[in-house]
Amino acid sequence: MTSITVRKPDDFHNHLRQGEMMTHLVKETAKVFARTNVMPNTLPPIRNAEDLTKYHEELKAVGTDLEFLMTFKVMPETSPEMIPALKAAGAVAGKLYPLGVTTHSEDGVADIEALFPTFQAMLEEDLVLCLHGEVPGEDALKREEAFLPKLQAIHKNFPQLRIVLEHASSKAAVEAVKSMGDSISASVTVHHLVLTIEDVQDSAGSIHHPHHLCMPICKTDADRKALQEVVFSGHHKFFLGTDSAPHSREKKEAGHPPAGIYTTPVALPVLTELFEEAGKLDQLEAFTSQFGADFYQIPLNDSQIELVKESWIVSEEMFGVVPFRAGEQLSWKIS
Ligand SMILES: [Zn+2]
Repeated sequence: MTSITVRKPDDFHNHLRQGEMMTHLVKETAKVFARTNVMPNTLPPIRNAEDLTKYHEELKAVGTDLEFLMTFKVMPETSPEMIPALKAAGAVAGKLYPLGVTTHSEDGVADIEALFPTFQAMLEEDLVLCLHGEVPGEDALKREEAFLPKLQAIHKNFPQLRIVLEHASSKAAVEAVKSMGDSISASVTVHHLVLTIEDVQDSAGSIHHPHHLCMPICKTDADRKALQEVVFSGHHKFFLGTDSAPHSREKKEAGHPPAGIYTTPVALPVLTELFEEAGKLDQLEAFTSQFGADFYQIPLNDSQIELVKESWIVSEEMFGVVPFRAGEQLSWKIS
């Protein structure tokens, strides 16, 4: 096969940042995706309808045809009364970060149950709850698994509330999501389908590749295999959310690197390569462009995107950021 055309994808987990960086990121995202979820962990975060509208205006002002699916940060102070205004401002989802699990989560949630009235309001407004599913303090490889009982508890209390376990990274998470009702799904990143813990740190736990550090951390080969298998099988509960999250080369390489991998420019070529190697190219479009839209109950995109089999070298650096697979050769290229 020398070319493949798919429905233009949606990215259901993307960090578009702020300021000059935001302008670059919006433009790069628009080259690949028709729509993108916009994560709310800006500084300050997107807390209310006013923040959301302001950020949305800034994103639109970049002047691309990318459509923004706006989210807000579910924080201890997010009250049920705030939810109708967030919905009216265009929010599709609220994102919950447990306290202290990742970039800008110092204001995250310690007591999830205290937010049950807010979840009830989100359910009534038909909003999606996006979860960063990790328990801080656990061993990095076990943090996601340790969160799964909390996911189950929320689902049990709100069986109709649509919940996305973001960036599923473990076999345990894949099994848990499969076992629960259809209101539970998971987004899957490109890097968790490619990397294992060995690509991030050495056996003593010191990080040898800061540009591969993300949260949740990439795990064992068995975890990666479980993710690949469920995605290649065309399971409707698992869809693309890249969690593309750039940090400057300077910050990444200065010791104590922040978590996040910038994958937007290579996401589709890398996925095409993976699905091709697995003999599952026929499942690519559903993963990138259908299952997520179905879960979010939005129409499928009309436009298409073509990839050609033509090797190219990924940039070493883009606007001060080292992208995923920097300097490496990829075999599929967006035409
Ligand atoms: Zn993220």
